[in-house]
Amino acid sequence: MMEATRLLDEARQLGADWFDWKWQMKNRITTVEGLERYIRLTPEEKENITRCLSLFRMAVTPYYASLMDPVDPMCPVRLQAVPRIEETVILPCELADPLGEDRDSPVKNIVHRYPDRVLLLVTHQCSMYCRHCTRRRTVGEEDHTITASELDDAVRYIESNPRIRDVLVSGGDPLTLSDETLERILSRLRAIDHVEIIRIGTRVPAVMPMRITPELLSMLKKYQPVWINTHFNHPKELTPLALKACGEIVDAGIPLGNQSVLLRHINDNAETMKQLLLKLVKGRVRPYYLYQCDLSRGIGHFRTRVETGISIMKALTGNISGYALPKFVIDAPGGGGKIPVSYNYVQSIDDSQVVMRNYRGDIYVYPQPPDLRDGPEPPGKTE
Ligand SMILES: *Cc1c(COP(=O)(O)O)cnc(C)c1O
Ligand code: SF4
Repeated sequence: MMEATRLLDEARQLGADWFDWKWQMKNRITTVEGLERYIRLTPEEKENITRCLSLFRMAVTPYYASLMDPVDPMCPVRLQAVPRIEETVILPCELADPLGEDRDSPVKNIVHRYPDRVLLLVTHQCSMYCRHCTRRRTVGEEDHTITASELDDAVRYIESNPRIRDVLVSGGDPLTLSDETLERILSRLRAIDHVEIIRIGTRVPAVMPMRITPELLSMLKKYQPVWINTHFNHPKELTPLALKACGEIVDAGIPLGNQSVLLRHINDNAETMKQLLLKLVKGRVRPYYLYQCDLSRGIGHFRTRVETGISIMKALTGNISGYALPKFVIDAPGGGGKIPVSYNYVQSIDDSQVVMRNYRGDIYVYPQPPDLRDGPEPPGKTE
């Protein structure tokens, strides 16, 4: 466990503060000189990073930086955190708001796209700015956090829409807020009768696991049912510290899911993905979505072909536990929402039978029920 050893060395040098998330936030690496403490950079790389920083800012927690390979420029942790010159290439199909979220925003900080759930964007701040971020147009631009009056407006909107049963608190990263600020938000949501579940989307377990403190968890427990979705992309990110944070979240009675983004040269092969997914499940984290990379500006170098995701999922389906398999989705450009894409196991379907392939590619036939052709509509078909 080379990473673990380096982590501990780092911790010893810096003292106990290293394990304090506020220290991690305060000491984030934002400059080329800061990066050079962790990785070797050529003069050209340094110049390129500087050029990228004028477009989209960088911040890397010392914890996450300590996971970077000091010499390998293709290290999967480094690729997610350190800018590359490709970020300055903006393709015509790339959009500032790739998911059309502004259009589905009835009040500031709310995205309401699906009938029964909304996104509530509470801050633009993250502890680490992922180079592949979908919301780069807002995240990483300024440290805006929802104001008291904006929160009032958002809460009023949710209150006046009884169909909303699920509020997804996201950003930015909500866990960069203090426990007090976060509690002010959660308590308002929990006071709304029709809000059944509160979800938090956070990358903190992967990039700043020391944020998961006993105090945070006992605060969250007051607002159950709370679910958390986190964001690991590579098995290397599942360090002992990260796994400890995940375990503590689950021990607090909070179901923990994971969303990954399919990223070129980072996790775009079946073997890496398999290691990631199995390690997550072993850590009691349930893989939820695998996203095709969005059309955000300057991240074309992270995109894979869609077939890559389909074939990775096909290679894993049946070979590893269903618990380990996320749903592979494309968040449709322009606001269509998440669309599942998959290998088609059904070869043909008619009134008499369904012809399918199993995970090994063998053909199987399932006969339709006898009454399908002329019988009455099956029960349940009322609309
Ligand atoms: C992803 C997303 C949700 C949550 O969708 P689930 O499929 O329930 O996880 C809600 N609103 C928006 C706008 C989203 O993008
Ligand atoms: S944690 Fe999420 S919102 Fe923040 S930079 Fe990464 S992908 Fe974007």
